Amino acid sequence: MAKRLKNGAAKDGWIEVRGARTHNLQNIDVKIPRGKFVVLSGVSGSGKSSLAFDTLYAEGQRRYIESLSSYARQFLGQMKKPDCDSIEGLSPAISIDQKQGSHNPRSTVATVTEIMDYMRLLWARVGLPHCPDCGKEVARRTVQEIVDDVLWRFEGHAVAVWSPAVRDRKGTHADLFRALVEQGYLGGKVNGRDANFENPPELEKNLRHDIDVRIDRIRLERVTRQRLTEAVEAGLRLGAGAVAIESLKAPKLKKSDDPDEQRFQTGQGESIAYSEEFACPEHGAFLPEMSPRVFSFNNPLGACPSCQGLGVQRNFSPDLVIDRLATVGEGCITPFRRSMMSGWYRTQMTQTCEHYGIPHDVPFGQLDDEAQDIMLNGSGDTIITFNFVSQKGSSYQMVRPWEGVFARLRRTYTDTSSNRTRSRLTSYMTDEPCPDCRGQKLNNAVSMVTVGGVSLPEISFCSVLEALAVVQNWRIGGLDDTWSRLEREEPHTPTVSKTEHLDERSLFIAHDIIKEIESRLRFLALVGLDYLTLDRRANTLSGGESQRIRLATQIGTRLTGVMYVLDEPSIGLHPRDNGRLLETLRELTSLGNTLLVVEHDEATLRQADWLVDLGPGAGKEGGRVVSNGSLEQLLNTKESVTGAYLSGRKSIPLPEDRATPDDDRWLVVTGARQNNLQDIDVRIPLGCIVAVSGVSGSGKSSLVTSTIAPSLQRKLHGADTTPGSHDKIEGYELIDKTIVINQSPIGRTPRSNPATYTGAFSPIRDLFTQTNLAKERGYQPGQFSFNVRGGRCEACKGGGSSKLEMNFLPDVWVVCDICKGKRYTRETLEVKWRGKNIHDVLEMNVTEACDFFANQRSIYRILSTIRDVGLGYIRLGQPATTLSGGEAQRVKLATQLHRPATKHTVYILDEPTTGLALADVHQLIEVLLRLRRNGHTVIIIEHHLDVIKCADWVIDLGPEGGERGGLVVAEGTPEEITQNPDSYTGKHLLSFV
Ligand SMILES: [Zn+2]
Ligand SMILES: [Zn+2]
Ligand SMILES: [Zn+2]
Repeated sequence: MAKRLKNGAAKDGWIEVRGARTHNLQNIDVKIPRGKFVVLSGVSGSGKSSLAFDTLYAEGQRRYIESLSSYARQFLGQMKKPDCDSIEGLSPAISIDQKQGSHNPRSTVATVTEIMDYMRLLWARVGLPHCPDCGKEVARRTVQEIVDDVLWRFEGHAVAVWSPAVRDRKGTHADLFRALVEQGYLGGKVNGRDANFENPPELEKNLRHDIDVRIDRIRLERVTRQRLTEAVEAGLRLGAGAVAIESLKAPKLKKSDDPDEQRFQTGQGESIAYSEEFACPEHGAFLPEMSPRVFSFNNPLGACPSCQGLGVQRNFSPDLVIDRLATVGEGCITPFRRSMMSGWYRTQMTQTCEHYGIPHDVPFGQLDDEAQDIMLNGSGDTIITFNFVSQKGSSYQMVRPWEGVFARLRRTYTDTSSNRTRSRLTSYMTDEPCPDCRGQKLNNAVSMVTVGGVSLPEISFCSVLEALAVVQNWRIGGLDDTWSRLEREEPHTPTVSKTEHLDERSLFIAHDIIKEIESRLRFLALVGLDYLTLDRRANTLSGGESQRIRLATQIGTRLTGVMYVLDEPSIGLHPRDNGRLLETLRELTSLGNTLLVVEHDEATLRQADWLVDLGPGAGKEGGRVVSNGSLEQLLNTKESVTGAYLSGRKSIPLPEDRATPDDDRWLVVTGARQNNLQDIDVRIPLGCIVAVSGVSGSGKSSLVTSTIAPSLQRKLHGADTTPGSHDKIEGYELIDKTIVINQSPIGRTPRSNPATYTGAFSPIRDLFTQTNLAKERGYQPGQFSFNVRGGRCEACKGGGSSKLEMNFLPDVWVVCDICKGKRYTRETLEVKWRGKNIHDVLEMNVTEACDFFANQRSIYRILSTIRDVGLGYIRLGQPATTLSGGEAQRVKLATQLHRPATKHTVYILDEPTTGLALADVHQLIEVLLRLRRNGHTVIIIEHHLDVIKCADWVIDLGPEGGERGGLVVAEGTPEEITQNPDSYTGKHLLSFV
């Protein structure tokens, strides 16, 4: 590798940065080889992102904008040059970060990767339409094609040209008969019988009829081509695009040596239908055109009319409506219980039970299927006598069928005029697949167009892996050598099995389109996303998944000479799939691109061509180049924290103590079925750190984020959440509180910051109020707030900067001209505590503030916890919008550290190591151990093996992603997991414990 590196670097040259000072970068010079796989490492806050994104990428962007027209530039004038003396050798830059790409609820994996655009084109070009009524293939032809085909099949025959003028339509059709006669069409068939139109049969007005018009009778020879053409044209016109040819008399068979000629010997009496529109000769026209837009559910021509192309309809969910543990007598229908007329409903249900002899003192879940069906879906035609007695004693009788719980709920929902009732009922509804299109989003006619035997919805429901198999079957009638690289079994789903090799004509037309689709699918599979279905909604993808999708899209474009700046591409990826991601990234460099990757993953660091390690610490202790060169150089750099962990000089130890699960304290989820979970039971020991592991797509988030978290929030806090499908959850009464600590920002505007979020700002303001000057002037705490009028700068309303809306670009924040970003009035800033004004305090980082407020107990207590979670480098007033997801998550964790053990809290974290170097992971684990030692439970979705090894209990899901996952593969202590031969996690964990 060293040799390649030297040669390569010489050939491709260097990117040379001089005097970089962005954020905490300390006026550094750094040389980075072009055309290489370069990793930037260092602890959080060391300056990696400042160099990669805020200096190199920002400058690349700025130069790009400079190259635009002056008109475009006037909107972009605010783009600042990064604080840097010079950068040489820079290429055009593309950044792929983890921000969610799309918020459009209609975006899917297939649309964001452009796969859908190509598939629509493919279906429009070579798709075969089928009649939605009878399923017969219908080819669209021009008049010329029809005439050519008729001559080919019927040459020498005496034929009749038929036009299906009326199909299955009510009426006497007397006007039509008259018009036909006027045009010279005297005969044909009415409802299949020969008829003379001059003297037509009388038709019953209210019945449906068929009328076929005989346009012409011709003996077909080459010379009668013109007459045939006219007849076909007339027939198509009358028959709304359809025409049929019947052989009245076949010529005598002549012996021929040409096999082709024999094949098309049409028999006497045979008839063939042709269509110009996509019209079935039996059932009429069904497709307006074959164009890409028709294959879009965003277009009215293609969308299912029932759900407008959404694929789902809101419906009452049995899981939410029925309390299966309660009896009819107790009111097992939850929304009825909360209704004003709960007694009325209960009486009706009890009396329905009595009518059928169904017990009403048995939990609903234990009633037999038929009994449940009657209660839920009604008694049908069976009439029941209901007797009611009011509280005052008057009685009242009602004789009618029981309409059923769901019909009743639906009726209330549509009839009610109360918004409150409607919104209350909405909380019992979930999105169900649309019954008309079965979730296919397209209308029937469109979804029956096939390519190689497969419809567009069928391929959309496929996973990336299955779709890749379909495409290769089209192309070569089998699979190519990609599969050996993938190490995945060939999928044998119904869709894959029925895929046919395309005929030569279709392949010729579709060659380029299929190439585009296949290369995208191949890359998605290679970056470990083989389990995602093409119709998976983009807004449900994790940050890591959507980053890898955009990466695959980039590789598909095959640009060269570009500098890609990536942020932790390994996030969310199981160690098993990491190797292939790295191979795929290598393809970017072999195309001649430079890859700058901000990464903490050890495997990625070890295989980099070149490593830039920043640090050694965070914030003011960082911002320097600690090592710039090969891996060996990094390992031998004493000062490097990264090098210390990589070389083993430092390591994350196994925890000194493990919590042992207590027999009586388990949280048990039964029958979890959300997404790909296969009706599993999961047991979580309370008072432990529980790691939920498994390859991507194995069902970790479906279990933890979509099922456990929302059901606990619902049970414990009455939250209006919809948990994923499951039978029941037990043991929650042992828990007092549940808190989901995710990586969402601690605030949406630059006004929120760590000081306000953690509550440290309030005692700090009090401190300033108690100074002599503040007392003299009579300042209240509000004087030092930037959120209310008084002491703040009114020009920027205390923001320090103001938002400039950029129309088609992201908003830009510009520093306030009046206060120069200091947020307060000059008078307010005159008030000082120990020589610092309120703005100075907000500018301090947490470590500095800890020293500064060391004797102020209430302030110190809060700030020291932020420092303890490894965020000593963030500033108290640092805008929430500039904190990374990992930093925001740790700020939230810090505010939890003082929760007393008497309140048993379950903390739920989804991949908290995102953005963390090993040194930071070390600190995070310490925080989690502190929470657990305080008696709380921590449930954590994680791939990071250092975290998994420190857990008390591991639940490993899998074995694969998607449909082949969703099972509990192994559970137990980390040591027990390593002994399980079925667990991929166990295999990789072996060297860690
Ligand atoms: Zn049909
Ligand atoms: Zn629909
Ligand atoms: Zn201002």
